[in-house]
Amino acid sequence: MKGTVLYGPRDVRFEELPTPEISKSTDAVIRISATCVCGSDLWPYRGLQPIDGPTPMGHEYCGVVEEIGSAVRNIRPGQFVVGSFAASDNTCPHCRYGYQSSCRQREFMLRAQAPLLRVPLADGTLVPTPGMPADDLLPSLLTLSDVMGTGWFAADAANVKPGGTVVVVGDGAVGLLGVLSAKVMGAERIIAMSRHEARQKLAREFGATDIVSGRGEEGISLIMDLTNGIGADSVLECVGTSESMTQAIRATRPGGSVGYVGVPHGVELKGQELFYTHIHLHGGPAPVRRYLPELIRLVCDGEIAPGKVFDLILPLDQVAEGYRAMDERRAIKTLLRP
Ligand SMILES: [Zn+2]
Repeated sequence: MKGTVLYGPRDVRFEELPTPEISKSTDAVIRISATCVCGSDLWPYRGLQPIDGPTPMGHEYCGVVEEIGSAVRNIRPGQFVVGSFAASDNTCPHCRYGYQSSCRQREFMLRAQAPLLRVPLADGTLVPTPGMPADDLLPSLLTLSDVMGTGWFAADAANVKPGGTVVVVGDGAVGLLGVLSAKVMGAERIIAMSRHEARQKLAREFGATDIVSGRGEEGISLIMDLTNGIGADSVLECVGTSESMTQAIRATRPGGSVGYVGVPHGVELKGQELFYTHIHLHGGPAPVRRYLPELIRLVCDGEIAPGKVFDLILPLDQVAEGYRAMDERRAIKTLLRP
């Protein structure tokens, strides 16, 4: 089997890898129907996050179960399944509290940019769809594995409520799906921060009511103007830089909430400044597994189409071009089909 391996900055190869097999009785092996490149894959791709030698890539996936281990009870071969980027047992105290991405047995997925994938803790990690989905639902179902689940968590963590005012910092795929999530949760006003025309257009399609193209001080003062000097009830931080986090905190009203899901790189918060903001901060790797049943229902009922975020579809063996296009911001998100 050939799969995707990152060798170093901007060096992605599609090369021979061992074929995944059941190694624990709780595993499943699935045949990938669609996978994709994540914004977080770009950190090591750009050399901004060190890797320890050649690293198999990919953690977003959906597909058909091929084989299960002897202890797997809830999942059967032939089912179409979606799983989180973090494998979890869904039974430990953290899972039962809704934080499956902090599962005591958590394993971050790797190797999903390949035709076959071993999924640990299959009973806890995978959620089957009702029947075999139509081909045109695949992109939307795939987003539930990470990017849509993460946008949804950002909105949930930012306490988005019907009638509320929301700011979304970041116009990558997660930010755009954060806009969609806020819309589904009933926000009345959704201000998307974006400087790119194609992304602004998609943000509006997903439910943004206003676009702010300024950044830094300018961006913050534009948001204050739009909110009568109050700030937003809920702010979704979907980038992970020091600048974006500062922007998110300063755009939030006293008593408001920031949901932060961009993996922080170089973010440092000053305790005393934070103390006087009166804001709630809640973030981390999204507990996607908690949301999967509800999000699968919304996709299968045609209520949301988060798959619109994919603006480049490539055969899996052209994965290197998929990374390049996202790195150069020619594509918002690349879907790969084995
Ligand atoms: Zn657990």
